[in-house]
Amino acid sequence: MKALVWQGVNRVGIERVPDPEILQPTDAIVRVTSTAICGSDLHLLDGYVPSVTHGDILGHEFMGEVVEVGSEVRKIKKGDRVIVPFPISCGKCWYCQQGMTSLCDNSNPNPKLAETMWGHAPAGIYGYSHITGGYAGGQAQFVRTVFADANLYKVPGHLTDDQVLFLTDILPTGYMAAENCNIQPGDVVAVFGAGPVGQFAIRSAFLLGAERVIAIDRFPERLDLARRAGAETIDYEKEEVFGRLKELTGGRGPDSVMDAVGLEAHGTGLLGMADAVKQTTRVLESERPHALRAAIMACRKGGTVSVPGVYGGLGDKIPLGAFMNKGLTMKTGQTHVHRYLDLLLDHIVKGDIDPTQIITHRLSLDEAPHAYQIFKQKHEGCIKCVLDPWA
Ligand code: NAD
Ligand code: ZN
Repeated sequence: MKALVWQGVNRVGIERVPDPEILQPTDAIVRVTSTAICGSDLHLLDGYVPSVTHGDILGHEFMGEVVEVGSEVRKIKKGDRVIVPFPISCGKCWYCQQGMTSLCDNSNPNPKLAETMWGHAPAGIYGYSHITGGYAGGQAQFVRTVFADANLYKVPGHLTDDQVLFLTDILPTGYMAAENCNIQPGDVVAVFGAGPVGQFAIRSAFLLGAERVIAIDRFPERLDLARRAGAETIDYEKEEVFGRLKELTGGRGPDSVMDAVGLEAHGTGLLGMADAVKQTTRVLESERPHALRAAIMACRKGGTVSVPGVYGGLGDKIPLGAFMNKGLTMKTGQTHVHRYLDLLLDHIVKGDIDPTQIITHRLSLDEAPHAYQIFKQKHEGCIKCVLDPWA
């Protein structure tokens, strides 16, 4: 089959690889019909994740048709149309039982690396290097999925792939980020980053009762899309973000602030994992406002900073003094996708949220290397690329 593989820093390509096979009786093989590129894939592309190796198949936002199931799979059948949550849940461990599926204890088959870096290993993730289990990803024609009964989620036939694909990751991610803000009626919420995650965070904040949402980015088409969802916007290259946020909130600052940016390739002042391991004391100067720092500084006293943005290594120059003295709360994490699926599917069916709005590019899998570049550079007005592995 054809698959998109990592070939080195800033290099991905299409290669012919063996078709996946059932390895465990709880596995299922999915023929991928749609697959997307995520901001998290850019961290792999940029080489921030040291355990990614040449030949690894990327992709954790994918859906398709089940073509084969293992002997112990009960709820899922050949022919089912499913979306596949990016974090892998065993469905049985303490964390999965609590609904914290991205912290599953059993789905990362080689937890040592993560334990060394982070103390404990979180869940396995498709297409996300060996630190999250080394699972082949879904930017491919077929993918082997594991613990099929606990993960594969059947979607109604009358909804298109475009409508349900983002249930795999970024729609629940934006929603959980907004939920983590503990939004109260009348709240003003600020969102750093108007990428796909930020877009769904904005829409979710309104769904959860925010009175106003302020989005911060520098790309006009992303700010436009945020305005279409009802947000006010700040272009951080043209305006002074702190001053403007204060002005817009009567001097107090937003009640909660989300960092929907995370690691950024262009000198964020945060160390990538590779750097962090080798050189934990190195200090990088930031040339641009760093989103997490800015979020902490901008949030009103007693407010909440919610961090869907992905980080891997060690952070420096995070203003802990501001964090402590302002009495802030911080909430973060890989998203517990499974727990939001019924709720968000319902919102899609009812038309409360239209996930297709963020799609700017539909390309074939063969065009994926180009898609990675335009998504990384935000060229051609790119906000989100969906790939068809069979086009
Ligand atoms: P993206 O790269 O498309 O969007 C990031 C946006 O942030 C861009 O529009 C960029 O212009 C903007 N930005 C950069 N620096 C900024 C700054 N200082 N202030 C304001 N805006 C700034 O990526 P995405 O797909 O939207 O993903 C965003 C983050 O969410 C990534 O770190 C990704 O890894 C993470 N993510 C987390 C989860 C999770 O489970 N927690 C899931 C999916 C994605
Ligand atoms: Zn993702």
